[in-house]
Amino acid sequence: MAPTGSLILVSTPIGNLGDLSPRATDTLARVGVIACEDTRHTRKLLTHAGISGKRLLAVHEHNEAGQVAHVLGLLDRGVDVAVVTDAGTPGISDPGTRLVVAAAGAGARVEVVPGPSALVAALVLSGLPTARFCFEGFLPRKGRERAERLGAIAAERRTTVLYEAPHRLEATLGDLLAACGPLRLVAVARELTKLHEEVWRGTLDGALARARESAPRGEHVLVVAGAGGPEPASDEQVEAAVAAKPSRWWRPSWVCPSAGSTTPPCASGSDPPGGAIYG
Ligand code: SAM
Repeated sequence: MAPTGSLILVSTPIGNLGDLSPRATDTLARVGVIACEDTRHTRKLLTHAGISGKRLLAVHEHNEAGQVAHVLGLLDRGVDVAVVTDAGTPGISDPGTRLVVAAAGAGARVEVVPGPSALVAALVLSGLPTARFCFEGFLPRKGRERAERLGAIAAERRTTVLYEAPHRLEATLGDLLAACGPLRLVAVARELTKLHEEVWRGTLDGALARARESAPRGEHVLVVAGAGGPEPASDEQVEAAVAAKPSRWWRPSWVCPSAGSTTPPCASGSDPPGGAIYG
């Protein structure tokens, strides 16, 4: 018989606690057990949300496989189990997927309470094309696997989103530059939704120079432009643009750095007539 409990993936804030949705709060308050990466971290979130007395179960990258049977047992007994991680959406460079596979395989209901993720936040802030993109998560630390991923990013025509730790940012920007060339466009998104949120837009050589100038701090996402620049516009986009009869040609200058940045000037050919209007 299929388990009667549900597994519910719940997205939590990536910095700003105000981003915890009402539905996320309701779900965390009503489930029997919350599977979380770090119980102390989740307790703080629950306290903020006014939720107390919850049973927490530690499920992190080192024990997720072993905790699957435990969670399946709870679902079998009709207990609803929420899955949260320290920040963002479970399963995105975080534990969660093994539980989904096991619960769905056992015939349990699996739901999601969508919400914050650094991946989507950085992508939409980058100004790079969002219609087609790929997510690399964290690059392998070294060796052939890392070289292969870098080679794939260099050839990729879609925008690529990567996570990176601050102390590895300079090395990764250096490797991306070596693979993609110094003029590949990149956005470096830092501390999203937090006090020191910042998005820097420019080229890989500018980003590397900046990382060398002062040691990067906080959480970072890199958004790298696809090879060969943006994809050509579709017929529908061209027709819509013609129908709109623009008074002048416009395209977003997504190479332009944020105001106040120390980046070199925008790459040639990328500015809209009349100068930068974005960034
Ligand atoms: N599951 C999370 C999500 O949905 O975004 C990602 C977890 S992953 C272990 C942590 C990485 O996400 C960080 O190293 C950083 O690259 C990125 N990240 C998380 N919060 C961030 C923030 N507020 N600003 C920028 N990057 C962030």
